[in-house]
This record gives sequence, C-alpha cells and structure tokens, in this order.
Amino acid sequence: MRSIFIVGSSFCGSTIIGNTLNSHSQVFHAGEVDRLSLFRRYHGADETYLLNSCGLCGLDDKAHCPVWDDLPPPPATPQEAVSLYRTLMARGGKEVALDGSKNVDWLAYLHDHGLRNAGAILLSRNPLAFAKSHRDATGAPVWQGVEIWRNIYNHTLRSLITRQIPFISMRHADLTSNPQGFYARLLEFMGLDGMVDVEQYFQFPVHALGGNVGAFVRYRDFNTQRYEAREAQNKRPLGVMEIEEKQARQKRGGTWRDTAWMQSIPDAEAGAALNLPGVADTMSLLGYSAYELFMAKQKWRLTQSPRTLLRDGVKLLRSNRTGC
Ligand SMILES: [Zn+2]
Repeated sequence: MRSIFIVGSSFCGSTIIGNTLNSHSQVFHAGEVDRLSLFRRYHGADETYLLNSCGLCGLDDKAHCPVWDDLPPPPATPQEAVSLYRTLMARGGKEVALDGSKNVDWLAYLHDHGLRNAGAILLSRNPLAFAKSHRDATGAPVWQGVEIWRNIYNHTLRSLITRQIPFISMRHADLTSNPQGFYARLLEFMGLDGMVDVEQYFQFPVHALGGNVGAFVRYRDFNTQRYEAREAQNKRPLGVMEIEEKQARQKRGGTWRDTAWMQSIPDAEAGAALNLPGVADTMSLLGYSAYELFMAKQKWRLTQSPRTLLRDGVKLLRSNRTGC
C-alpha cells in the first residue's frame, strides 16, 4: 500500500477530488485523518475539529463502518502513531490510501517518524478565491486571507521539497476546465491505470473522514437532517463555502465554476492583496498570474446583465474623476 496525501489550504476542493478518486478500483479516500481523535493532533486546540467516524456511517448510529469503527487505543509514541496509521489505512483494502488532511505538518510528522512510500498532491485554488471563502468563514479581510494563502503554500512547498517527497501540483481551475484530463494526470502520478467515474463517483462506497459536506450530498446514504443535527451537537458551524458549493452544484447540475470571488471582491481590494510582498512569487510557482486573474474577472463581467455593466462603468468613471 502507498500513501498519497492531499496538501494545501482549506477550501481547495480536496473532498470532492478525494471522493472522485475513490471511484477508482485501487484508491481508498480516507479523508481528514489528522482529525481522528486518537491521533490527538487537535486535543486542547480546537476540540470541535475532532472526529471518530466517517462522513456517511457516522450519520447513522446503527451503521457499521468497516474502516473507522473498533478503533484501537491512542498511540503512546510517534513511531506507534505511524504504525497505527498504516494499520488503519490498510483497512481501506486498496493499493493507494489517500489522506485528505491537507495539512503538510501531518504528512511531515508521519514521514519524519518512519512513514515511507508517501507522495503528495499539492492542491490549490487561486488566492482570491481562497480569500473570499476564508473571509466568509472567519470575517477576516481579503488581504489577510491572501497572506495566509501565501504562507500556507510557501510552507507546504518547503516542507515537501526539503523532505524530497514526490509531489504533483494541481490547480482547482484545471478540474473545472478539463475534469478528465485533471484526473488522468493524478492517476498517472499515482501510477494507476484506468479511470475514475467523474459523473457517478457517489455510486461507490466511501468512508472518508470530515471534509466538505457538498461532496457527500449526492451519496444515497447521506441524510441532510442527521448531518445538520450532528454538526449542531458537536458545535461545528456549517462552513459557508460548503453551503455555497452545495447549492451551486444543485443549481448547475454538478458543474461548479469558481466565480464567487469575482462578484464579491472589488478590483482595488484584490489588487492591494495581490501586491503584498511575496504573493506574486508564490502564485507564479503554483501557475497563477495576477494578470490572468484580472482578465478572467473582466471576461466574467461581460457576461453580466447590461444594467450591472452600466452600474460598474459609472462607478469606475466616478472613481477616476475623484482620483482614487
Ligand atoms: Zn464509514
């Protein structure tokens, strides 16, 4: 068994990508394994983060989860944690165990204490899309979100490179523009033949921990009421992006274009955030450019109603006249 980790920031689409990869006959999507209570990564920090059951079996008290039920006691040493990690991931019964924790420190911890044969999928959304979701979830201003994005990706890149962990860097936008090509590249990286089922991924049994609820709503065993009750009981607020994405998917029949940031971040605010020192460098390493983001926003603007175009044009002329 080989371990592949999805690493990057929150809101990068890891759950839906993990669940789609899970439709391959040799991939087990384990989800956010670092949140498993027995690994104690978040004890005393943010206890609402802790999990003991998978996203679907956990909704039904009577369901037996073949992977995450009957958990052994917590490991006493980091080496024991690695061995326990291997045992639990092997329960998925597939050649590749996919860990969607996104947290490179979790991968580094396991690697530094003996986990070998690991690879990583470095997954990103553009910094403004991340900052928009981050602002909606936390109230933090856009520039702060962009700064966090820069720090996470610099740290992730450095952590992978210094440990010589093989990785592939993928942008969420490539998934939207060419899903088949996106998954073909990932399978090639993982050394697997065959294909995933992009359209019907939810027909395959999944036992992933945590993650974006939008990626679970289409499974037969998903129950919205039970999900909401469980989140309320655990005092976990529903993520804004989760709800957004869930609704957008339902409206547009499965496809989701990442345009929400264009609508809600004014040009001046976006420009100021992207001009923060170091942001352009990190963007460039991951295949983004500020110019392309602004062009995409201008193109998107042309798809809006004539009334919106006129309103924005008047706003722009006024701002030029006053010199700001
Ligand atoms: Zn399960």
